[in-house]
Amino acid sequence: MEQVKLYDTTLRDGMGGHGMSLSVEEKLKVVQALDALGVHFVEAGFPSSNPKEVELFGRLGELELQSSMIAAFGMTRRAGVAAAEDPALETLIGSVAPVVCLVGKSWKLHLEKVIRVPEAENLAMIADSIAFCRGAGKRAVFDAEHFFDGYRDDPTYALDCVRAAADAGAENVTLCDTNGGSLPTFVGQATAAAVEAVGDGVEIGIHTHNDAECAVANSLAAVESGARLVQGTVNGYGERCGNANLASILPALQLKMGFDVVSAEQLATLTSTAHYLDELCNMAADPDQPYVGRNAFAHKAGMHAAGVAADAATFEHLDPAEVGNDREILASELSGKATIRSQAEQAGLSLDDEAAVRAVELLKEREHRGYHYEAAPASFELLLRQEAGIYAPLFKLESFRVTTEKRADGRVETEATIKVEVDGERYVQVAEGNGPVNALDKALRAAIAGRHPHLADIELTNYKVRILDETHGTGAVTRVLLDSSDGEREWGTIGVSENIIEASWEALVDSLEYAFQPQT
Ligand SMILES: [Zn+2]
Repeated sequence: MEQVKLYDTTLRDGMGGHGMSLSVEEKLKVVQALDALGVHFVEAGFPSSNPKEVELFGRLGELELQSSMIAAFGMTRRAGVAAAEDPALETLIGSVAPVVCLVGKSWKLHLEKVIRVPEAENLAMIADSIAFCRGAGKRAVFDAEHFFDGYRDDPTYALDCVRAAADAGAENVTLCDTNGGSLPTFVGQATAAAVEAVGDGVEIGIHTHNDAECAVANSLAAVESGARLVQGTVNGYGERCGNANLASILPALQLKMGFDVVSAEQLATLTSTAHYLDELCNMAADPDQPYVGRNAFAHKAGMHAAGVAADAATFEHLDPAEVGNDREILASELSGKATIRSQAEQAGLSLDDEAAVRAVELLKEREHRGYHYEAAPASFELLLRQEAGIYAPLFKLESFRVTTEKRADGRVETEATIKVEVDGERYVQVAEGNGPVNALDKALRAAIAGRHPHLADIELTNYKVRILDETHGTGAVTRVLLDSSDGEREWGTIGVSENIIEASWEALVDSLEYAFQPQT
């Protein structure tokens, strides 16, 4: 099997993404997660003299990595200056990273309008810089910025840039669709031309952006044309519409195109790694993300669910276990007894016939009132547990009270008081919050934290409120959907009521209850 290597640039290109900010500690965790997944190169950024980068590269040098090589990122030398005289290149070769990735121009429009450098000098800048890094004992990757736009404009010159890097000793020339607007057929053709231009011994890589929503398709098209390294970020983090998403590219290369990328065991950690990285980067996991999303293998009950039960291949493009994801049959009022029982089985519960019939009835009645369990499988599992008779509540509520006070000066203060019984003992807690639900959450957790300290690890990641039956205005029924995470698992819960606080309370209690059910 032929190998394709992955090159992750979360720590450099990915940091351009909206809302991305990582501490040194978090960056190291990203590197370790990518290493465990089997990513071949991890780009750590430019090893500049700012204290944060100095610390990062210092600590990267101490990591013991199994699969990943650290790459430092920099630019080709400045115009009119010898490579050895360029302080940025000097810094680059002084870093602990065994690999350097140099970005340089390959589009004449940029030479004319942006950096104002003659064509011949640009070729010399590429060649000198690569040769300088090779001379310092580094492995060198050349990132041909705007290659596809350059190739469209003047294919001869764009390929001259690729050749200049290859001839100077770059082991890989990565073609970049920097503006992200190219389409797969063209990317395939241009990549084939570059593969031919460098000949054997030098690899071509691909680095695409998602501005035309083709970053994944473009990467795969390039590999079909002979590229053997794919640059991108797990989950597609990056500026504007993001980088090519390695979480989609990896399984496509390995399971659909037959390339050797990572081990089967590593591939089976893809879903948990992708979620962990979202957690580190403080991004909400996209439930609809291909391969790794919570809904990626979720089937609505009915014909699809029946088909999947008979043979999963009927309605699935691959076995979710191969990428570490789970199949999920969604609960909805279309569900019959058989579906309910198979869902119970999935949760490790056994429902007898009578209990299954009761669950179907309950489901219909709840859905009629506005519950929507497709988005809240954890609440549904709790419902099944109750019907199966194996549900042990975390606590018993005596009462809660929430007050919100707005003062003339505009200040708003919220306070919640809660009285509960946990394991036979009564607890009373008061907490302030930035809103009624927040105050209630804090008071409830404080009340039961003594018995259940793990509660502190549960994070509410998403809180969605939807008004049903809007014609009733402020008297309408409210549906609250809550997503929670403990860093490994994610689960969704639901609450429905005419009172928004009661609906939120219900979703909150389900979330905490679910976290404490024995895992199957
Ligand atoms: Zn990029």
